[in-house]
Amino acid sequence: MARKQARTKPDEQQAPARSPLKMLQELAALQEISRSLQVLDLDEILHLVLDGVTKTIGFDRARLYLINEREHRLECRMAAGIEQEKTAGVTLPLEKSNSMLARSVIERKPFIVEDAMEDPRVNRDLKQLFGLKSFAVVPLVGRGRVLGAITADNLTSDRVITPEGFNSLVAFAGQAGVALENAQVHDELRTLNRELEQRVRDATEDLKKTQDKLIQSEKLAALGKLSAGIAHEIRNPLTSMKVLVHALSGRLEGREKEQEDIAVIEDEIERVNRIITRFLDFARPRSPEFSRVDVNRLLDETITLVTREAEERGVLFEQTRESVPAVLADREQMKQVFLNVFLNALDAMPGGGQLSVSTRCTAGRVEIAVSDRGGGIQEETRKQIFEPFFTTKEEGVGLGLSIVKRIVDEHGGTLLVKDNPPRGTTFTVSMPPAGSEGALA
Ligand code: ADP
Repeated sequence: MARKQARTKPDEQQAPARSPLKMLQELAALQEISRSLQVLDLDEILHLVLDGVTKTIGFDRARLYLINEREHRLECRMAAGIEQEKTAGVTLPLEKSNSMLARSVIERKPFIVEDAMEDPRVNRDLKQLFGLKSFAVVPLVGRGRVLGAITADNLTSDRVITPEGFNSLVAFAGQAGVALENAQVHDELRTLNRELEQRVRDATEDLKKTQDKLIQSEKLAALGKLSAGIAHEIRNPLTSMKVLVHALSGRLEGREKEQEDIAVIEDEIERVNRIITRFLDFARPRSPEFSRVDVNRLLDETITLVTREAEERGVLFEQTRESVPAVLADREQMKQVFLNVFLNALDAMPGGGQLSVSTRCTAGRVEIAVSDRGGGIQEETRKQIFEPFFTTKEEGVGLGLSIVKRIVDEHGGTLLVKDNPPRGTTFTVSMPPAGSEGALA
């Protein structure tokens, strides 16, 4: 059934005509609302628009629908003069044939529907839900695009919709559309701005991390060069000293006091040599040469190297070994790992104590744990112990653990440091067994 838009029945003319004064007042009120619409956010605007339609223009009920572009639907966003539960979640497809709402939006035209129950263009579900009789529907058009629509009716009072009322609604919807568009653009801008800010924050953070890494690796490279240079400069005269001291020892045979002094000198030369070796290990790490290594045997060999020192300091080894699968490792480098960890454990127990070494296979990994009963490591210190040249010891070099960490990393292993209650520290090295996916082949 074709209908003309904004057509009114003859009896509608009998609706009480509004006085010019009343119309002026209404106009002023609507202008006031329109001014407020410029500054508010979307929800406040929706609220004000519906207030304008009901309280100022005088409709009993009004519902405001906005387009959801992604789903190509119209969603009832807010209503006035009607229970909230009725309108919550009401959505309609944006298809002309489905509803007068969609038709009004698509054609960008306002309509008055006189008898909704008899009008096939009106959505059947909406008729039932809202008990529709006569209603007006106007599109909300912004400057460039259509945003949604308002429907309004007088169901409660059963008043007819007058041409003035309808015209006021159309005029007001025009202003509301512009304000809504502004608010939507503002909303979108705000969201974009937030996203942009987040991206800038993320990018700055990434940059800082990269910079830190760069500084760290540059520092390490510089330290490496320096260490290698110093090590070479010291090693040559040290070799001469060693030869000369040996010769001196031959010439001073039988002179006990001098021989004792010479032994001290030889020990000190050895100590300096060890420090230089560490410097060079740190400065010029060689790539690991992998072979299948029996961890338990490797530990036995390493423990032998420190037995004398442990005995002298009153440290007893306690061993809990399980038979574990072989790992792929560089023997010498792995020995160095455990030697450093053992020596640190001895240093941590100057008055003697117990040094526990255990092996086991857990969660598909070979695990070696070394626990001492020393003073433990403070939380703050723990963050730095793997940094080259970090030491808390008077005679420390601070390279042991940085070398340990690098070797374990190169072997695809992990290194964990924990407290060993009631006192002391546990270093746990975990490695993939040879032949497993994680193992280096
Ligand atoms: P160094 O032994 O020359 O100090 P390391 O790199 O081996 O260098 O160790 C760095 C620091 O880590 C030590 O100075 C010490 O403070 C701490 N540390 C390492 N092992 C232990 C341990 N078993 N108990 C307590 N502190 C330790």
